[in-house]
Order: sequence, then C-alpha cells, then structure tokens
Amino acid sequence: MRLEKHIIIRGVIHCLSGLRIGGAKEQLEIGGVENNIIRHPLTKQPYIPGSSLKGKMRSLLEYKHSPNTKDPCDCGSCNVCEYFGSFGLTKAPTRVLVRDAALTKNSQEILQEALFESGIHFAEIKMENAIERNTGRARSPRPIERVPAGTEFNFEISLRKFDFDDEQALVDFVLEGMKLLQQDYLGSSGGRGYGQIEFRNVTIDGQLVDSFRHDAGGNDK
Ligand SMILES: [Zn+2]
Repeated sequence: MRLEKHIIIRGVIHCLSGLRIGGAKEQLEIGGVENNIIRHPLTKQPYIPGSSLKGKMRSLLEYKHSPNTKDPCDCGSCNVCEYFGSFGLTKAPTRVLVRDAALTKNSQEILQEALFESGIHFAEIKMENAIERNTGRARSPRPIERVPAGTEFNFEISLRKFDFDDEQALVDFVLEGMKLLQQDYLGSSGGRGYGQIEFRNVTIDGQLVDSFRHDAGGNDK
C-alpha cells in the first residue's frame, strides 16, 4: 500500500444557533459557570475539537450506512470503519483526519469587541430551565455557556488517499457526513436547538464545492 497524496477540504463552520461543546470538568473554576465550554488553554478562545467534528460525522454515517449495531462500529470492514478508523480490527490506516477548528479572524474581532463592551468572554451565558411535566413549574435555572449564533470557525479535513482508494468515493463519503451534520447538530443540547451549523465556502484542494457555496440558496437565515 502506498500513500499517494492528501486531499484537503477547507472552509468555514458557521453557527446558525448557539454552539456548546463542553469543557473538561478539571477546567471548572471556583465560582465560575457550571457548564463551561472547551477553550484553548492559552488564548482562552473557544474552538471546535477535531475529535468532536469527526465523532459526530462518524456516528451519523454509521446510523445511515453501518450494518453494525455496536456504537461505535468496530467491524473493520464497512466504509465508516475503513475511512474513519476502527477500534478493533483495523485493516488499513485511518483516511480521515480532522483538525481542531479555531475562530476565524472576523469572529475573533467581533467577540473581542463584545468582551470589552459587555464582558462576555468569547461566549454567552444562557439560563436554561427544565420544565417539570406534571406541575409545569420550572426547575431552578442553570447557567449554560455557549458560543453565540453567527460565530464562525475555520475547519480543515485532510484525507489520506492510498493507491487502492477510490478518490471520488472517499471524498463523497466525507461530504455526505458533512451534509448529515448540517441536518443534525454539533456539540450538546441539540434537542434545545443548540449546535445547528452550516459549512460554508467549502473547497477541495482549493476548488469551491458547488453544493456548499454560501450563496447556493441553502438554509441561510
Ligand atoms: Zn464498521
């Protein structure tokens, strides 16, 4: 087996609703928000871990294509295992590498300004109530930290193409995962409307992908 090349998919992840990807419990500060988001340890800016993006695309593709009911699939032979890697019997190296997605320059500036003006630290705090079904009463509201709607991140997916790979099939499979993700949600609380995202200005090796053009008449709001 020979590695022929890397195919690079790039673009912007645009948050149509607030996005919440939880941070580690160890990051909890005393007196801080209970449900804080993941941030870069030095800049303290929110980012989308590549593992979150990849994991969500993988699970959606599994729902659709994988014959296995195990979660995650480890059959080692379906397209998901083949391209995204399997935990059990891996026959070939993982093809899909997803980088951490950092804030775009523009979003950094907007959120920096918001930090000075209103003290929000690259995120908003939303109070969420849980409603008790039988009484209709709200349980004590919890503060939830999330990245505000309209925020954008630069993403990059690198695809390893080996000599025996069908390039078009590999690319199409990943694009399908991206489309499924747009119909679903990223991060947590998708059932409350969080995490609706759109991939914009997507390029493959520098070539714009028509179905992901921002002006393609998609679901921009
Ligand atoms: Zn599998």
